[in-house]
Amino acid sequence: MRLILFGAPGVGKGTQAKLISSKLNIPHISTGDILRQAVKDQTQLGKKAHEIMNRGDLVPDDIMIGIIQDRLHKPDCEKGFILDGFPRTVKQAIALDKLLDEMKISDVKVVNITANDDELVSRIGNRRACKNCGQIFILQEIDGKTNCTNCNAENSFYLRDDDKEAVVRNRLQVFRENTKPVLDFYEDKGNVNTIDGLGSITEVSKKVFEKLDII
Ligand code: AMP
Repeated sequence: MRLILFGAPGVGKGTQAKLISSKLNIPHISTGDILRQAVKDQTQLGKKAHEIMNRGDLVPDDIMIGIIQDRLHKPDCEKGFILDGFPRTVKQAIALDKLLDEMKISDVKVVNITANDDELVSRIGNRRACKNCGQIFILQEIDGKTNCTNCNAENSFYLRDDDKEAVVRNRLQVFRENTKPVLDFYEDKGNVNTIDGLGSITEVSKKVFEKLDII
């Protein structure tokens, strides 16, 4: 299956992508994770992206398109992939279309997960990341624990700079301005499946799996 997971920051794309990825054994490609890893490794890309990400703005299209071009040509994408956080602009969507055409791929599905802004701001403020492995947790999951339950790093939970309220509001604004038109782009093609992202992780994943006919 080839899938584009679409939705505002905090709507749960990453969580749903991980569930689909482990169920279908196809790679979860999160451009946010790729960029955060580059920042951590202090690569050229990471140095360029760091400040932009801290403001909640978008990394330039050409850089992002290059990243996805390389990633989709890796052998693990042959049997399918889940894109999370890409495309985020119409220019990226057009470039992706062209790339998929060249790769003779025509069966991409789009899942659009929705939620209102106040819910998103509250969800994001309520989550913590592990500094070591990047895994995201909600505060209730951490509940007094000092070691990351994914990688066992000690005292590694933190609120990402781009998860602070002012930055989240900017990310939502950027989403409305740049990313919503991407949805129109796919809606014109008629292949968008919209899912209400309110509810527990299990409730939402049940709806996603049903829409995608994943058993
Ligand atoms: P995410 O974890 O998907 O919310 O991404 C975190 C940040 O990475 C975003 O706020 C952007 O600064 C940057 N980013 C991720 N994906 C893209 C993309 N496709 N285009 C531009 N910037 C991106």
